[in-house]
Amino acid sequence: MKYIGAHVSVEGGVANAPLNAQKIGAKSFALFTRNPNRWASKPLSVKEIDLFRQNCVECGYSPDFILPHDSYLINLGAPDPAKLEMSRNAFLDEMQRCEQLGLTMLNFHPGSHLNQMPIDECLARIAESINITLDKTDGVKAVIESTAGQGSNLGHSFEQLATIIDKVEDKTRVGICVDTCHTFAAGYDLATPEGYQDAWNCFGEVIGFNYLSGMHINDSKKGLGSRVDRHELIGKGALGLGFFRQLMADSRMDNIPLILETPDPSIWAEEIELLYNMTNKQ
Ligand SMILES: [Zn+2]
Ligand SMILES: [Zn+2]
Repeated sequence: MKYIGAHVSVEGGVANAPLNAQKIGAKSFALFTRNPNRWASKPLSVKEIDLFRQNCVECGYSPDFILPHDSYLINLGAPDPAKLEMSRNAFLDEMQRCEQLGLTMLNFHPGSHLNQMPIDECLARIAESINITLDKTDGVKAVIESTAGQGSNLGHSFEQLATIIDKVEDKTRVGICVDTCHTFAAGYDLATPEGYQDAWNCFGEVIGFNYLSGMHINDSKKGLGSRVDRHELIGKGALGLGFFRQLMADSRMDNIPLILETPDPSIWAEEIELLYNMTNKQ
């Protein structure tokens, strides 16, 4: 079955995330476990951790359907050694927070070369950052997000994502989160029925569906291959309702978190219902 949810607010504490998810009829959710725009953050208290775990159980969310997202500041491929160290430290903290909360995945953007290093070296550095962090932690999978390729962001092609996975030592603890807006903006034509099949066939061949650990399901404001990351409401963008119908009918996306990051949280409940209605019609 499909586990559709959204990236919900943690205002007032992480323990509110499962409650916010339940309110909108979500069967999965994403959250930030620390402020995504700051380097420093205070540790989670035992009370917060206990309440989060309790609320997840009471609201019926298993860790398989919770996909925390890391800070936007982290660049695991940073060319500058000082920035790289800050990023690796923050990423370790993010992973450890997931461990404390009983979560099993951490979703992150691979990194950027900032036009200061060759792409291959940057991809290798990202994989090295993942290896270092996995060595120091237990039970949390590093879930790499597909990007739109905006600026110098890497991870916009399936080949780049596969290159990173190839260099990760523990393959059981690495996965991929495909963001539909990003992947379309990166040049994979998910909007047409043929393009949809081609793109996912390519994903299967280059990466493999065993690595697909979650998805961000967003429509796209910008066109195919624009390399611009602008999310749009479901059905209102360049991907369109036809794409989402095809996605909801596709069993390869069963049993993983499918997370909305569309621009109007006030209609997430409606968007979730819209998507579930598409699954019922199959
Ligand atoms: Zn993201
Ligand atoms: Zn995005």
